[in-house]
Amino acid sequence: MTAVLLRGGHVVDPGARTEGVFDVLAVQGRIASLGPPGSVLAPEGSAMVDAQSCWVVPGLVDVHVHLRDPGFPQKETIASGLRAAAAGGFTTVAAMANTRPVNDSPQVTAYMLEQARATHSARLVPVAAVTRGLEGRADIDYRAMSEAGARLFSDDGMPVDDEALLTHALDEISALGYAISLHEEDRSLSCNGAVNAGSTAKRLGLIGYPNAAEAKRVQRDLALAVATRAPLHIAHVSTHQSLELVREARSRGAQVSCEVTPHHFALDETATLRWGPNAKMNPPLRAPADVEALHAAIADGTIDMIASDHAPHEPAAKHLEQLADFFCANRDAAELPAQAAEIFASCANGVVGLETSLGLALELVHRSLIDRARLVEMMSLNPARLLRLERGTLAIGSVADITVIDPNLEWTVEPDRFRSKSRNTPFMGMRLKGRAILTMVGGEIVYDGRRGDT
Ligand SMILES: [Zn+2]
Repeated sequence: MTAVLLRGGHVVDPGARTEGVFDVLAVQGRIASLGPPGSVLAPEGSAMVDAQSCWVVPGLVDVHVHLRDPGFPQKETIASGLRAAAAGGFTTVAAMANTRPVNDSPQVTAYMLEQARATHSARLVPVAAVTRGLEGRADIDYRAMSEAGARLFSDDGMPVDDEALLTHALDEISALGYAISLHEEDRSLSCNGAVNAGSTAKRLGLIGYPNAAEAKRVQRDLALAVATRAPLHIAHVSTHQSLELVREARSRGAQVSCEVTPHHFALDETATLRWGPNAKMNPPLRAPADVEALHAAIADGTIDMIASDHAPHEPAAKHLEQLADFFCANRDAAELPAQAAEIFASCANGVVGLETSLGLALELVHRSLIDRARLVEMMSLNPARLLRLERGTLAIGSVADITVIDPNLEWTVEPDRFRSKSRNTPFMGMRLKGRAILTMVGGEIVYDGRRGDT
């Protein structure tokens, strides 16, 4: 297919300051024309898509996903992960480096890109490690990694404790034109805590993970950002203190961006009482006051982007069977016996998110916390900028990465229907309003949900 005409959709393109009802024509992988309905002439044989009552937006970009490939095919592969991305409306995802082997060599980066090419779905941007093996002790050849295709650097899942090493990495990576994404955790304070330090930890009898474990490390790293002027990105902010520190560092000239995950803004720590291991992640779900602060920071622009932190795990890694008696979607869990507490603390962190991220973000629009242009800014334009990609706009001549969203389509989260290989979500059974119905990458339709293919 060389040409696709999207007819009569509501185009939302804050990067080009365009919003309104337009026809959009993609030819040979690029945006060829955009004009009032009925005014755009499509070449003979073009595919026609009726986009009326839908939004036509630049393809969504997620800067933080774990595709588990190479190394963990029982959780996800690049093929399954990219198909999940496309079904969620994403045209580009940045795949973190905590694979096996770790993505700290050009060979692993090349493998990831090759798998992505063979999948013909969403695009993959490899994230390279900051330290060898994510061990926090030695640097890697950042230039070689960027030449191999990495466009972001992160030890995500692990904090970079060594300040001198991080300073050196910031210097080198910023000189290459890229940013570092940081998992902010002071492990002397988080103490391998399984849930937020607060009412939920007390009720379950678990060690708590306090806000300070994140905020203290954010504070250290923002001081580095001010000193080095290197671009620094904070992954999955979860506490009100982190947001205040970001605002303050920006006022002192730091080049800092930050992301929030849908689970951190849509849920608070009490969700852990029902969903147990499927609501366990690092950082943990926080107190309602932190969730409120995240909403305010989404609305006022402190938070630059939404990222899923898609973290697939098989049931065994979550010890679902062993903990089945303690957690149930219909009632809150009570204190865990010591052995169960130990099992809970040892289960893998993270939830899947690629197929629910947009639906949860749309709730923010439906509740008038943000408008649709801001949603597109947070899910396409700003993430594309962080990855230094010329994406995030539908301006004429741009690459035709496009997402068509039906903002009013109501649906139920059914994990059995995920493209992802994993089902670890705390949103099972939730009713959501709005989803991607068509995803185009380079002018090709890679996901079509129009015929009930949801
Ligand atoms: Zn992550």
